[in-house]
Amino acid sequence: MDRPGGHRVSRPIVALDFETANERRDSACAVGLAWIEGGAVVRRESQLIRPRDLRFSPGNIRVHGILPADVRNQPEFPEAMAAFLPDLAEGLILAHNAPFDLGVLRASLATYGMRIPALASLCTLQLARQVFPDPAGCGLGKVAGRLGIRFEHHDAEEDAYACAEIALAATRHRGAADIPTLARSLGFSTAPRLVEPDRPMTQPRREAPALRFGMRGRTGNRYEVTLEKRPAGLSLRCTCAAGRYALRCRHVTALCDGDVTDLLTGNHADVVALSRLLAADG
Ligand SMILES: [Zn+2]
Repeated sequence: MDRPGGHRVSRPIVALDFETANERRDSACAVGLAWIEGGAVVRRESQLIRPRDLRFSPGNIRVHGILPADVRNQPEFPEAMAAFLPDLAEGLILAHNAPFDLGVLRASLATYGMRIPALASLCTLQLARQVFPDPAGCGLGKVAGRLGIRFEHHDAEEDAYACAEIALAATRHRGAADIPTLARSLGFSTAPRLVEPDRPMTQPRREAPALRFGMRGRTGNRYEVTLEKRPAGLSLRCTCAAGRYALRCRHVTALCDGDVTDLLTGNHADVVALSRLLAADG
């Protein structure tokens, strides 16, 4: 943006990472941020957040180790984020699996009746898949490990720092002038986008969401369909005869079509989550 006097000030570039208390997007319990300037991380912050609903899922606690007692006396989202929101609204947000962190941001703003600004973001997971592809995948820990970035995984500030360093490493690797230039050269849009917040969905884990469906077969047998993360992308496996031969069976087809007629496990929200994941996975 141009400031009076013709001095050109670039927008802030901020890596963002949220941890959540449960499967709801508006259950942030910690935030980490890392600011980039002149090709380096120049500032790091972290803040514990008290979710409005103090409900923690065991799976989420297992990931980040944050307990209800840790956040009981911490500020809620509006106060916890007050100092950071201006930079996030004006700047370019980096996040590893950006739909998750941007989803938490938007859902939390919506829950507290706050205005949701147009946000500019760049997903370092997508970035890493293009710049540092690897059959082992491009999860935060894996990419950081391959690049020699040392950090404590699943601590919000450390995750934000690693995300920032991945973007910087990709920029250096491609010889780009800066992160926005790299993003443009790879065809990623970093224009601010106004998006309605996601509705809550079941996605406690980021790399391989543990989605499981019990399906009734034609003759009444029960089959299990599970979502798996493979190098080629997300894939559904079924325990039926066709599924065991890696054929696309009617149970998988039904779930992909959102048909819950034969769903025995009753997790309809997971079927909705599945269709979004598959759409996002291409
Ligand atoms: Zn099947």
